[in-house]
This record gives sequence, structure tokens and C-alpha cells, in this order.
Amino acid sequence: MEVVRTVAAARDRRRVDRGAGRRVALVPTMGALHDGHLSLVRRAGELADSVWASVFVNPAQFGPGEDFERYPRDLDRDLGLLESAGAAVVFAPETAEMYPRPPVVSISFEPLDRTLCGAHRPGHFAGVGLVVSKLLHIVEPDVAVFGQKDAQQALLIRRLVTDLDFPVEIEVAPTVREADGVAMSSRNALLGPDDRRAAPALFHALETGRRLIESGERDPAEVEAAMRRAVEAEPRLELDYARCVDREDLSAPATVAAPVLLAVAARVGGTRLIDNLPVDPPPES
Ligand code: AMP
Repeated sequence: MEVVRTVAAARDRRRVDRGAGRRVALVPTMGALHDGHLSLVRRAGELADSVWASVFVNPAQFGPGEDFERYPRDLDRDLGLLESAGAAVVFAPETAEMYPRPPVVSISFEPLDRTLCGAHRPGHFAGVGLVVSKLLHIVEPDVAVFGQKDAQQALLIRRLVTDLDFPVEIEVAPTVREADGVAMSSRNALLGPDDRRAAPALFHALETGRRLIESGERDPAEVEAAMRRAVEAEPRLELDYARCVDREDLSAPATVAAPVLLAVAARVGGTRLIDNLPVDPPPES
């Protein structure tokens, strides 16, 4: 496995793959890797001949007072995991390499970033759009793999590449969970033992919503209220949102008739956790 630290070195290495006629897949990450990330790397290996991963904690997607400074970082450990999962190249730039001067270009996803996490993290998706655009231009992968864990991000990136004609396929891989249902996340490492024990309430809330829809509930407000109660039953969790939205455009449906996304976010201790579940309502009998 090769590690490239500069844009120029990444482009040189990309030319090698192009010369060899290899199909390239890119898995963008912020490091502090877990099995969720590694599942994307393995999926990338099924889709391409040469798997690239990027490890970059992108300051542009953190707001003031968010956890950029305390975000977990361990590049040596990440490189070992990426190699064992089959990555051929890792692009791991310093901040100054990615942002030699403050960017003036901004990617707006309005109105799709006014809901869910976008409503609670102003500027977050503009920062994601910026770094993903840069990574796709630097690596020029044939396919890029993202996780369903960040459902709104995956949807906005699909729109980014279609609206701006990026020549790349987007693949979205399922959420990998711990045995107790908690979605794997680099931020789980920041949880103390009591907070970690409280975290499954998010997944239980999603399961509550899913069961309601599968047993015939069609009122999104009822589904959201039940999910909210399930999160609030765990006193350590402070709810950001519990939503049942259209899976295509994240709008609030009048009734649960088409595929929906159940999405929750809550703070526990100083850490913000998110999770989601795509649900298909059963056909009307
Ligand atoms: P991050 O390092 O948090 O920016 O995540 C990098 C990529 O890994 C994103 O596409 C995430 O959606 C994906 N990812 C994070 N957690 C999981 C998980 N538990 N299962 C699957 N993919 C994940």
C-alpha cells in the first residue's frame, strides 16, 4: 500500500493506475477507522481494481464550537487497517495541502441542507461539498463509496455529482452496527461508559418507528412522536431531531406512502450521534 501526502503525488500515482488501465474506487474518510469504514473499502474492492482511501479531518465541515479539535486521530493505526482491508493507495494530506488559502468557492445544497443535520449544523454540508469536490477532482475515481450511516450526506453527494456532471459513480453501502444496534462511528470512541450504555436508544427509536410503519401507521407525525418518546426515555440523550422524511428529497410527506427515511440525532455528553433507517411501507391491503 502506498501513502501519498500531497495533491501532486496523488495525481502522479493516479496516472500509474490510468496507464495500467485500472478502474479506481475512492473511499473518503476522516480516519479513526472502524469496521463501518472498512466495509466501504471492501465494497470498493468489489467495484474496482485499485482501491484508494482518503484520510482527512476536514475543518471546513466543522462549525465553531464543534468537535474538530477533539475529533479522534490515529493515522498509523488507520494505515494498518486500510492495508488489511485491501486499499492500494491512501491519500492523507495535511490541512495546509488541501486548503493552502481560505477557499472562496462554496457549494450550496439549498433546500436539501435546510433539514435534518443541515438544520442543526449550519455550513456543515457546504464544507462536505467542498472537500468531496476537491477529493473527486484530485483522485478522479471511477466510483466513490459512501455510507448509508450519513444518509443526508450520501443524498447530497449524489446531487453534487449529477448537478455538476462529475464523471464518477456513487455507491452507497449499508450501515454497519455494533452488536447492540449502535451504528459504528468514530465519535463512539469519545463516549464514556455511561453514555455508551445510553447510545442504543437511538437505534431503538428507529426500530420503534419501523415497526409502527410496518404495522400500518401512515401518519408521519405519529411515527416521529413515537421515535421522540423512545429517545427521550433515555435521560442521558438530548434530542436534536427524530424525523420521518421522503427518501428522495427529504421533504415531510403528508402520509407514509412512498419509501421513507427515519432519521434521529441526539447529543450524549459532549458528543453528537446520528443514525437512520430506510423503511418501505408495506403495500395497502
Ligand atoms: P467519516 O470518517 O465519519 O467521515 O465517514 C467516512 C465514510 O464512512 C462516510 O461515507 C460514512 O458514511 C461512512 N461510515 C461511517 N460510519 C459507518 C457505518 N457505521 N457503516 C457504514 N459506513 C459508515
